[in-house]
Amino acid sequence: MMREEGYITPEQAGEAMAAPLDVSISRPELEQEWDYFSEYVRQYLVSRYGWSAVYEQGLQVYTTLDPDMQEQAVFAIDSVMALRDPVWDPATGGYRSDPERLRFPSSYEHWQTVEDTLSGSPDYIQCALVAVDPRTGYIRAMVGGRDFQDSEFNRAVQARRQPGSAFKPFVYAEAVEQGWSPGSVVLDQPVVVDLSPGQWRPRNYDGRFHGMVTVREAVQRSYNVSAVRVGMAVGIEAVAARAHSMGIESDLPIVNSLPLGSCMVSPLEMAQAYIPFATGGLARGATPILRVEDRYGNVLESNEQYSTGTRVMSETGAWLMNNLLQSVVSGGTAYGSHWYAGGVPYSGRRAGGKTGTTSDYADAWFMGFTPDLVTAVWVGYDDHIVRIRLQSGRGEAGGDIALPIWTRFMKNVFRNSNPGDAPSFPGVASGAVEHAVICRQSGLLANAACGDKAVDEIFWAGTVPTQTCPIHVSGSPFATDTTLPDFTEFDRSGGARGARP
Ligand SMILES: [Zn+2]
Repeated sequence: MMREEGYITPEQAGEAMAAPLDVSISRPELEQEWDYFSEYVRQYLVSRYGWSAVYEQGLQVYTTLDPDMQEQAVFAIDSVMALRDPVWDPATGGYRSDPERLRFPSSYEHWQTVEDTLSGSPDYIQCALVAVDPRTGYIRAMVGGRDFQDSEFNRAVQARRQPGSAFKPFVYAEAVEQGWSPGSVVLDQPVVVDLSPGQWRPRNYDGRFHGMVTVREAVQRSYNVSAVRVGMAVGIEAVAARAHSMGIESDLPIVNSLPLGSCMVSPLEMAQAYIPFATGGLARGATPILRVEDRYGNVLESNEQYSTGTRVMSETGAWLMNNLLQSVVSGGTAYGSHWYAGGVPYSGRRAGGKTGTTSDYADAWFMGFTPDLVTAVWVGYDDHIVRIRLQSGRGEAGGDIALPIWTRFMKNVFRNSNPGDAPSFPGVASGAVEHAVICRQSGLLANAACGDKAVDEIFWAGTVPTQTCPIHVSGSPFATDTTLPDFTEFDRSGGARGARP
């Protein structure tokens, strides 16, 4: 065992930004919390520098881990999964997880599990969390599972899981770059997808269809049918290319179910691929390494001058996506975080995010980001067998299971920060976007008869609808008729496409 032989153990440096991973110093009280990250760094070092350089010649390794964030990540997972306070252990000066408590996931009130185990992996529900600073690409916290002693498999890095709805932002990112706006409308009505062979009828989590909806509603409420329609309209290959450019490294199948996340990705690459949403469109690779020196102090590798980033979305397109994903947290499937209590963002940081749930409830995700931290949370079983069941029977498991972990992690990380010092998301250039009051049912300018169908929405400048809603007309016998008009929805919702300057 690595620990018994005293090889790599992390040690906290004087400043949180530079936490060295010293190959010769042991800090037992930190080992458990840092296990997955230490092993991840060790494997990286051995693969890059070779075994003897790491173990015989001696490397001084400074990592990007933030000790406080790491502690909060472990605490958030342990406490949410146990649903009670962890045990304070005076021997180590830290929180100790009670293994017995952690094995009762069904105590969580909103869901229950059906015991069905395969040999070889822990039979309890697993979690992974990875948090990356989008401004630098530095990995600040990483938890690869519930218990390193039970399983060294690092689910944050090595697991390949279906992202489900957490993939949808890449669909809408491509749509926005093709000219769609938060106020564009899409039909959320049954669609039959040719899978050749066979057909597929995607359904929504609530089992209903919602007629005409704006892109913002579709994102906020995570409508599946809308996402499939938008994905097919903008092109599945374009969606995959967009996701790859943003940071998804795993292969993506070019299939019509891709918009619903029918691919296999790791939490780390998901966090990496959400970075452009927080940076105004700049992608960065995630790294655990700040600096590596040999025993003479020669710098072998340094990420201290971090990348300026690669532009993968336009500034305005990234701003529109950021705006959409903030509305998921302020009033969508992530409202339960209460991040915007009273309209004021917690710790002065605005936050965006997206829940994720696979269609068979085998995976629950929450992807959340502030200007300074992009975090992926995944919850599920190692064997991919469906056992996460919502007691209500329907819903977004990501919001019920993964979101509370993100919320506790983030609120603890920023518990002492001064809101006045909080960083902000990049803004949008003056005149790049326009507001308009539109009718949600027609997607056209609202008139007085549209009533509660009228919403103030955002558009790419120059793409605001010019026609007035024909469905709700004062005095019209059809004013209360909710029957959808007969038209080709893509022509209508895609009216803005190509019109972007
Ligand atoms: Zn109307």
